[in-house]
Amino acid sequence: MSDTGNRGKIMIIGAGGVAAVAAHKCAQVPEIFREILVASRTLSKCEAIGRDIRQRYGRDIETAQVDADNVPELIALIHRSRPDLVLNLALPYQDLHIMDACLETGVHYVDTANYEPPDEAHFEYSWQWAYRERFKEKGIMAVLGSGFDPGVTNVFTAYAQKHLFDEINYLDILDCNAGDHGRAFATNFNPEINIREVTQVVRHWEKGKWTETPAIIEDGSIHFGFDYPVAGIKASYLLYHEELESLVLNIKGLKRARFWMTFSDNYLNHLRVLRNVGMTRIDEVDYEGHKVVPVKFLKALLPEPASLGTRYKGKTVIGNIMTGKKDGKTITRYIYNVCDHEEAFKETGTQAIAYTTGVPAMIGAMMVLSGVWQGEGVYNMEQLDPDRFMEALNRYGLPWKVVEHAPLPDKV
Ligand code: NDP
Repeated sequence: MSDTGNRGKIMIIGAGGVAAVAAHKCAQVPEIFREILVASRTLSKCEAIGRDIRQRYGRDIETAQVDADNVPELIALIHRSRPDLVLNLALPYQDLHIMDACLETGVHYVDTANYEPPDEAHFEYSWQWAYRERFKEKGIMAVLGSGFDPGVTNVFTAYAQKHLFDEINYLDILDCNAGDHGRAFATNFNPEINIREVTQVVRHWEKGKWTETPAIIEDGSIHFGFDYPVAGIKASYLLYHEELESLVLNIKGLKRARFWMTFSDNYLNHLRVLRNVGMTRIDEVDYEGHKVVPVKFLKALLPEPASLGTRYKGKTVIGNIMTGKKDGKTITRYIYNVCDHEEAFKETGTQAIAYTTGVPAMIGAMMVLSGVWQGEGVYNMEQLDPDRFMEALNRYGLPWKVVEHAPLPDKV
């Protein structure tokens, strides 16, 4: 890896499940991440991550309390601690504030989820793409969506485009969690963000335009049984996911792009009841003179995703099925990773959903810090060379396979 002359200091913002994994993985690679700072709203959570890292690897990390929505406070912390890169693993609401602080201080930026305004369950890249010119002028790089999906799924597509196809025409991203956390109802990452995502109207890309279909908990939602490697047949629901937005722009020749995620009947039934009684609402309601946002209250009642690892068993299987042309022939290839909840817990103290997000977050930061990815402006992952990232996935805990597969039909 080339020497970029930086100090190798990363500042991770957030101290949830994903941040815990990313901090552990950074601690495993001292030659790139020479100094690590974990800063979040609740200092005790940063300190707990620090203690665990000390115990496992004998490394000391710095910790700090910060409200990432307070841009001056964040700028002051960046000036004090002088990181080369900020890895944003707080919530999508903080993205623009953290990008503002990076712009002001001239520090590279990486995140795993695109911005959404707190008062509207709607996410899209436009808000962050609007920073392109300013990041360019400042001579710094922002890499958006360096988790698994978005993230690895974008890199899988870029790798397929570079090495396997002349043109990709049909893309299906399939995300299967075949694990069991042993709780009646819990979400695998931040409950508020998760519930906002899965209760939305679904969109997929077909014949040059977005087509809308009912949300996964509504009658008429689109689903089918897909036979996943290792996990077997699981009900997989069509869902809108943010990587589709950039992939349909950046991968030329795509005629259809869809995203599928597995959900159990138990999860969907709980979600329907919660929605029906108003607990998934994101607006303020008046309760005995207090303003309460029901989905935030629900989050306070549900298990912390970072705590689910203790009893989690089973695997995740996430990957892309792509059909297109190679040397005049139509071919289909499936690139996927299998991750085990118990092994993820043994290594980092968290479950596989946090692991499959935190590892690529570390790798994205590593690509920028080590100078493998260089650029000025704002980038989605498929715009960057996939090769070293793909090698790093194999090396740092998310090995992948490419196999031949039957194409997925239009109607499932
Ligand atoms: P958690 O809710 O477990 O953690 C979020 C952390 O951010 C918490 O420690 C929280 O602090 C902190 N935080 C929230 N607001 C602020 C603030 N204003 N200032 C400072 N810190 C703040 O979430 P996860 O770890 O599950 O998820 C982290 C991110 O990863 C999310 O954006 C999620 O959408 C994304 N993600 C991406 C995936 C992908 O594949 N691309 C998959 C899964 C998640 P506190 O502890 O005080 O609450």
